[in-house]
Amino acid sequence: MIPALAPFFSWVARSKEPALMLDFDGTIAPFCDNPLSVRPYHGIRERLRLIAHSGTRLAMITGRPASQLKRVLNDWDFPFNVFGCHGAEEMRPGGDITRVPLEAEVQRALRIAHWRALNVLPPYRVERKASSVAAHFRGISPRRARSTRGALELLWMPLTANGKLQIIPFKMGLEIRLSGVSKADAVRRFIKPPEASAYLGDDRTDEDAFGAIRGKGIGILVSRTIRPTMASAWITPPDEVLGFLDLWIRAARVKLST
Ligand SMILES: [Mg+2]
Repeated sequence: MIPALAPFFSWVARSKEPALMLDFDGTIAPFCDNPLSVRPYHGIRERLRLIAHSGTRLAMITGRPASQLKRVLNDWDFPFNVFGCHGAEEMRPGGDITRVPLEAEVQRALRIAHWRALNVLPPYRVERKASSVAAHFRGISPRRARSTRGALELLWMPLTANGKLQIIPFKMGLEIRLSGVSKADAVRRFIKPPEASAYLGDDRTDEDAFGAIRGKGIGILVSRTIRPTMASAWITPPDEVLGFLDLWIRAARVKLST
């Protein structure tokens, strides 16, 4: 798949400020039962440091709260933006965070969603974020995960009746979150067409980002197996992700030398 990306990397080399956007879990880091113990694949940090210092604008776009991802990446000593909670938060390299404001009615519904999730899951599996509640099924047997997901959908469904919240499945979890905010918003805010841009992601929530970047940059599905997707290319983790970053570094060096 990577040789087919040659025209894209020529575009990166010609762009003054190309943009590289990355999802975290499942894309540049493996899944792990404890989200706070997750670390990027070996070799990712070194490559991203070179990329961040090459004139590329770098962003992580994740379902995690931005502050949590910054804590997990506390040894990353180069500039990058973090769009957390699927684009509802933006943390700039200096640490300032802006959040999509929430109506009182939505805040109340999220409080109820949190309590209801605690009826079917232990507290360490329920994550309360600024604009969502996520239930994590990592490490639970597939059968129990299925029944828990079903029970939770029934408990959360009434809270989505006014259309202000929506229930979104993700790998090994289920989330109820603010409607109308997705990774697509983060992509639209970050890219600067006609500069080259790429978004790498693995999950269903990344499909919003793939849709937003279509026609303006390139969406790349990171997955061990191919599936229907809005992305334009498919690579496997971690080797082809590292290979993609190596090609980006090479293109950025061409850019710096011209
Ligand atoms: Mg992911």
